Amino acid sequence: MVQPAPTTGTDVRTAVAARGLVKVYGRGDAAVRALDEVDVDFAAGRFTAIMGPSGSGKSTLMHCLAGLDSADAGEVHIGRTELTALSDRELTRVRRDRIGFVFQSFNLLPALTAEQNVLLGLELAGRAPDRAWFDAVVDRLGLRDRLRHKPSELSGGQQQRVACARALVGRPDVVFADEPTGNLDSRSGAEVLDFLRTSVRDLGQTVIMVTHDPVAASHADRVVLLADGRVAGELVRPTADTVLAALKHLGDI
Ligand code: ADP
Repeated sequence: MVQPAPTTGTDVRTAVAARGLVKVYGRGDAAVRALDEVDVDFAAGRFTAIMGPSGSGKSTLMHCLAGLDSADAGEVHIGRTELTALSDRELTRVRRDRIGFVFQSFNLLPALTAEQNVLLGLELAGRAPDRAWFDAVVDRLGLRDRLRHKPSELSGGQQQRVACARALVGRPDVVFADEPTGNLDSRSGAEVLDFLRTSVRDLGQTVIMVTHDPVAASHADRVVLLADGRVAGELVRPTADTVLAALKHLGDI
């Protein structure tokens, strides 16, 4: 039986935090301050969406938070670990063992079955899968009878569900989802969002998602709004309407 982490009460841990995060692309007159002193906390056991106009720094923020890119100044904390203090090798280990990723384009290996794709990361890390957890994730994703299929034999929505299982199977501290519904029709997208929601509510996971889509963001517990590389506000218990109104206010629509 899989015990979910507590998701209610006053003792909410911070899973991921940024402090004074700065990222500058280019130099001199051509320099772009993609992140301009970003301070933000993401609670453990919550589903948070990052939204904002195109070019507001969403992807840059996610890449810096996930250790896929380095910031020019400031700190990123995953739990008690400060990423900017780590060597490349230690950073690779944190990404491999403590972070799950879901990308817009699924990124499954075509020669492997769904099950092999899900378990590959653990295998490469030399970790044995926790079978009860594997079963819980696979069953909640409705993938039980798809495990022997190759990605080419699965629909886009099924492939993204396999990618979600791969992200969660190691029980990471946090899952980063980068436009996870961007390549899906609305029904498959809704299934993936429902699953991300379920993984937080029932399995106690922590999810941080970048999205352009107000409907996708409305599945989250909280929306962090970015504009011009800065945190421009947040919405708690968002609806598609409140997200749309906030984006209009930022001049995005
Ligand atoms: P978003 O994800 O919100 O669309 P990004 O994080 O991709 O925003 O980009 C933030 C800003 O940084 C934009 O002005 C963008 O043009 C710039 N930028 C992003 N990546 C690069 C890069 N590799 N080189 C130069 N400028 C970049």
